[in-house]
Amino acid sequence: MFEYRGFLLDSVRHMQSIDEIKKLIDAIAVLKFNKFHWHLTDDQGWRFESESFPELNAAAVRPYSDFGKQYIDEPYGRVYTKAEMREIVSYCAERGIEVIPEFDMPGHTSSLLSAYPGLACGGKEVKIKTHQGIFKDILCPANEKTYEIVFGILDEFLEVFPGRYIHIGGDETPHTQWESCPDCRKKMKELGITGFAEYQNVFMNRIIDYLEGRGRHCIVWNDTAKGKNLDKRAIIQYWKEHNKPSADFINSGGKAILSPFSYCYLDYDYEITPLNRVYSLKTVLPGLTEEGKKNILGVEATLWTEYIDDITRLEKLAFPRLIAVSKAALGENKKPYKEFLLDIPEIKNQLGDIAFADEKTWTESRLAMIAGWLKFVKRNYSGEYIKEQIL
Ligand SMILES: [Zn+2]
Repeated sequence: MFEYRGFLLDSVRHMQSIDEIKKLIDAIAVLKFNKFHWHLTDDQGWRFESESFPELNAAAVRPYSDFGKQYIDEPYGRVYTKAEMREIVSYCAERGIEVIPEFDMPGHTSSLLSAYPGLACGGKEVKIKTHQGIFKDILCPANEKTYEIVFGILDEFLEVFPGRYIHIGGDETPHTQWESCPDCRKKMKELGITGFAEYQNVFMNRIIDYLEGRGRHCIVWNDTAKGKNLDKRAIIQYWKEHNKPSADFINSGGKAILSPFSYCYLDYDYEITPLNRVYSLKTVLPGLTEEGKKNILGVEATLWTEYIDDITRLEKLAFPRLIAVSKAALGENKKPYKEFLLDIPEIKNQLGDIAFADEKTWTESRLAMIAGWLKFVKRNYSGEYIKEQIL
């Protein structure tokens, strides 16, 4: 059994009510998950109520939503109040679950930058985003004001979330604006750094150092392992597969959590990630030494909500696949898949009135998988999204 058995919920792209979250917490507690990773900040909204930085509360609202084929022409979003977040923390604690909040940076920060444009390279004005994607507007690590505000926000996170871990993101960080920022170039020269992956980690390491100094440990997405200088006190969350730098980080003493996207990203349809595939999750990576294998702390399933705006759909995507992830986290996914299927009805009974996907959709063939990917591409890539990625 792994010490880290996690479940991520994205409450930015689409929110869930406190009661809906509690229902999910009840279910993951039955499955013996012990970490609730709560994704609270991103390009499309800011969900953490701040007293020190009240402009952030306005950055919770996007003017409209345009996720793939779903266009909704009305303002969306609010922050979770500190009282609500504390309620979730104590609800989880009563069930043996630690809440790990995520403040994603230096990328995925359009909502923060919309409130504090001075923190982007060149003080560029940034709008909160209304669709999915990877955006070039990111924090400028050469600006001291960036750290002042980020540390101030983190201080508030620490007050609300008492657990050991804080997730600080680090994924999907295009370096375009750093390349053309005179302050960033000057900073890199001063530091004697030529690579942008290393430059990103100068930023990450400063945040890690700040939080370590306050008795917390940081989790970061494994994109950061591309820079060889990532602080070994950080734990990488492996989501991108075939990533040699991650294996190097782990083999040289770094710790990791496994969330390979083609097994653990439960927002993908069953056609793309069928239950049998999730159940076959291996808890090692290619390229790990015997010593390296000992540095895997656990497994985490994720539910990103760009395309999930109702709780029944969310529950159906999660169940029964979350049961399969829990088996891997508990080291119990060794029995044949067909026997595992026989156990599901009894587990379903223990989970109360959680919605399950129709059994006919659980196990798919390779052909269905190809059709599923075509459907995925057609649905997700709107004109606005493609324009953003190219320009
Ligand atoms: Zn800059």
